[in-house]
Amino acid sequence: AKPIIAIVGRPNVGKSTLFNKLVGQRLSIVKDTPGVTRDRIYSPCEWRGKEVMLVDTGGIEPYSNDVILSQMRRQAQLAIESADVIVLVTDLRTGVTANDQEVASMLLKSGKPVVLCVNKVDTIGDVPPEYYEFYNLGLGDPIPVSSVHGHGTGDLLDACFEHI
Ligand code: GDP
Ligand code: MG
Repeated sequence: AKPIIAIVGRPNVGKSTLFNKLVGQRLSIVKDTPGVTRDRIYSPCEWRGKEVMLVDTGGIEPYSNDVILSQMRRQAQLAIESADVIVLVTDLRTGVTANDQEVASMLLKSGKPVVLCVNKVDTIGDVPPEYYEFYNLGLGDPIPVSSVHGHGTGDLLDACFEHI
């Protein structure tokens, strides 16, 4: 079986946009309309001659912070159980949130390889100062990515493949 890379994180950080960029197709719905949506989407993804299975996690649209948090815990738990590498996606624009911290510590305790992605770094060149805050999550070097433009996605995949 192919190694599995699971993408987890808060609603709206850009998980589905990243997933679509990595697989090169628009398979996952970006910014789902409210209501129940498919809660995981799989696609093979090839990088430097190796194939993996990418998993986008989504689920139910946020109704309240409690729902978001319980959904994130569930996503993270499933990823811990089934993935070989977990990509935690965060958002430069919102900075580190309490939910990010909660999920980061769950992932850290699991001992699974985790790659931290700071998404929406749309500018090229030096990373913006807000980027450094993400070191506080304790997951090592955050990888700056723009899922819309595609910047940094190669570095992100390289970081994932270090664990495969
Ligand atoms: P998800 O809920 O985590 O799956 O997030 P989505 O992929 O649905 O994206 C949420 C919103 O963020 C959408 O409006 C995307 O277009 C936007 N978005 C995603 N990635 C980026 C990015 O790299 N830069 C910018 N500027 N917007 C992004
Ligand atoms: Mg999504």
